[in-house]
Amino acid sequence: MTNETWGQVREELIKRVGKHNYATWIEPLKLSQLKNGVARFEVPTIFFGDWVQRNYGDHIRSQLNSAGTPVDRLEFAVGAGSAPATPRVAGQGSQPARPRVPDEELPGAPLDARFTFDTFVVGKPNELAHAAARRVAEGGPVTFNPLFLYGGVGLGKTHLMHAIAHDLQARRPELRVLYLSAEQFMYRFVQALRDRQVMGFKELFRSVDVLMVDDVQFISGKDSTQEEFFHTFNALVDANKQIVISADRAPGEIKDLEDRIKSRLQCGLVVDLHPTDYELRLGILQQKVDYYRSQYRGLVLADGVLEFLAHRITTNVRVLEGALTRLFAFASLVGREITLDLAQDCLADILRSSDRKLTIEEIQRKVAEHYNVRLSDLIGPKRLRTIARPRQVAMYLAKQLTPRSLPEIGRRFGGRDHTTIMHGVRKIEELMQTDSQLADDLQLLRRLLQG
Ligand code: ADP
Ligand code: MG
Repeated sequence: MTNETWGQVREELIKRVGKHNYATWIEPLKLSQLKNGVARFEVPTIFFGDWVQRNYGDHIRSQLNSAGTPVDRLEFAVGAGSAPATPRVAGQGSQPARPRVPDEELPGAPLDARFTFDTFVVGKPNELAHAAARRVAEGGPVTFNPLFLYGGVGLGKTHLMHAIAHDLQARRPELRVLYLSAEQFMYRFVQALRDRQVMGFKELFRSVDVLMVDDVQFISGKDSTQEEFFHTFNALVDANKQIVISADRAPGEIKDLEDRIKSRLQCGLVVDLHPTDYELRLGILQQKVDYYRSQYRGLVLADGVLEFLAHRITTNVRVLEGALTRLFAFASLVGREITLDLAQDCLADILRSSDRKLTIEEIQRKVAEHYNVRLSDLIGPKRLRTIARPRQVAMYLAKQLTPRSLPEIGRRFGGRDHTTIMHGVRKIEELMQTDSQLADDLQLLRRLLQG
């Protein structure tokens, strides 16, 4: 065979995938073996092989087949030049053909199908953020870069980002849209470092048309990740590719973030989502009720219930939605009309915790008291088991009972890293499955704190 065949196939592929993609992804492929229906290519990196497999695998296979070379599987191995000791094969060739959905093909996070512009209720507090998101979703020329959305938990940042991605996919399917959380970005980068695949990482992230990074406050403090993020960011901005970023606070207020990154983030349009007001909350409830009515037919909703909820549950939209879901589920279970009384009964805990904002300090104090340790020790650096365990309990409760983010909790625990908090939370989640004493402690503490 074969290099001749491959030469012809490559000609065909230019037509199929376009010059640009061809130059980036097909040209560097070296056909190293073709045997028993398996075509093996050398690629510069694992990422590269994965990418080609997912995006162009079907094209390559079908072109080889129509050139008279029966191939049912493609394999990609990292080329000898840059190879680790044993060549690593990326991906499997026999994936079912599927339409190219950019955010799935790229190593992004899945999109929530419910988070669309249609289901996003616009009110005063979010009107600017919504308008900016709409503009980005049009996919026209980039007018501001990045779009930086910030605001407290549960105010719709993720919803808007997903909505942008959904819209772009429908309107401009040829664009590569990548949505992921800053934590995923970090994780992938660390993975790439470990596997010595940094080039592949760079290629991948620089090949997108629209990059959306959610909860970017989690990137703070991680020096090499910040550095990489900064470079990716600059490369995309220079190439006039749209970037959308979200965080729980304004760029200037993200701690441990390098100044040059802060100022770069401020270059575009910075918009905040304000806390919800009564009208917005009511609007959101009304919209959800329309949906629930179709799910739970025949349920009667008394006048004034939605107004009551909008008035009383002011923390965030997620809690508001949760309350409504529970209310409908409960009412349908017991077959009763949804009245104010029912709502008060069924949502007592939510209504109570909305009344009073629990602070991390209160939690720490109660936990210290319960375990009979000093508050200063609970927060301090001692690693003694008798202190470390209560400390983890306090971390767990802080995460469960307050809307604070992991980095914020870390700060209240003597400036610990958010990964330490995450570890603590997971540890307790794990232990409470088997340790009934701990489970009881948690229940009691919860009741004391919320009661
Ligand atoms: P954030 O990312 O800011 O923490 P999310 O986007 O995850 O918040 O929103 C939390 C929940 O509230 C989601 O289920 C989302 O659909 C809903 N939500 C928030 N704002 C709105 C809104 N304006 N209209 C409809 N639903 C909303
Ligand atoms: Mg979010």
